[in-house]
Amino acid sequence: MLEAPWIAATTATFAPPTVPVHVDPFWIEALTSGWARAFALVWGAIWGSFANVVIHRVPRGLSVVRPRSRCGQCGAPVAARDNIPVLSYLWLRGRCRGCGEPYGVRYVVVELVAAALSLSLYAQDVIVPLMQGQGIGIATYALHFLFAWALLVVTYIDLDVWIIPDAVVLPVAAVAVVAGAFVPDVLGRPLLPALAAGAAAYGAFAAIRWFYLRVRGIEGLGLGDAKLLFMVSVYLGPAGLLWTVGAGALQGLAISVPLLLSGREVANTRLAEVHGDDPELGEEDPDAGVAGRRVPFGPFLALAALEYLFFEAPILAVAARWLGLPPPG
Ligand SMILES: [Zn+2]
Repeated sequence: MLEAPWIAATTATFAPPTVPVHVDPFWIEALTSGWARAFALVWGAIWGSFANVVIHRVPRGLSVVRPRSRCGQCGAPVAARDNIPVLSYLWLRGRCRGCGEPYGVRYVVVELVAAALSLSLYAQDVIVPLMQGQGIGIATYALHFLFAWALLVVTYIDLDVWIIPDAVVLPVAAVAVVAGAFVPDVLGRPLLPALAAGAAAYGAFAAIRWFYLRVRGIEGLGLGDAKLLFMVSVYLGPAGLLWTVGAGALQGLAISVPLLLSGREVANTRLAEVHGDDPELGEEDPDAGVAGRRVPFGPFLALAALEYLFFEAPILAVAARWLGLPPPG
């Protein structure tokens, strides 16, 4: 049976080699060892710690390198020994060593989520392929973790300040484009359809935004969401992009409607608090959002993209069954 061309174009992955790739048993042993997994976990926590810095500083236009982290209350610099991801938080019981001001539990949550993402991706991209004789997937793991890290950062920045920062999304997207151009199978999908779909999604979102601005004088969707979708497409391909938009919108409604109806907020700030001087964003519009409230879209897109990153095969299998197509792969 002939595959529909768009399905072939969107789901084509590079077939696993029929002849197992020879990997030195030393490397199989080393890369699947408990030490390697522990390293992936710690590596993730370190990047989670950096994610906290980026989440705090990038929207404020501050350098992510200097100065060293300081206590938000007393201004004391955080000493290196107090800056160990997760452990310092537990050791100091979540308080500043100098003034005792409690730090938000969010810092440790971000570090733990990044650590879990790193370890899960290491298992998916390095350990499982090694066991199946498909070679060493370190580069794939590195790219996927960078992508997941960016999604984590975008989620919190959008929840805090209703921005999806170019400074995060554009370089991370560029890394996938360059990697895909030089090492075509590193992300397991062809680059050109991913680029084309990303550009189309950007154009569609920009058009919807333009239409909203023209007709209602408000920004219904941000260009940040459009750039985020471009990044998603170059990492996950057209099918992953479709999932991210569709599942992101449905899950966004399923999560935010009950929250808003019970009087809670989705974001950590009011849109008008952050962008109050921007006439395109300032006023709450009863028809502009969910239950009369504006809801940031980025966190829901990021969540759906992570789902696809980890569950691509079952998602494609279910989609193929619904569409009456032969199962992918
Ligand atoms: Zn302090």
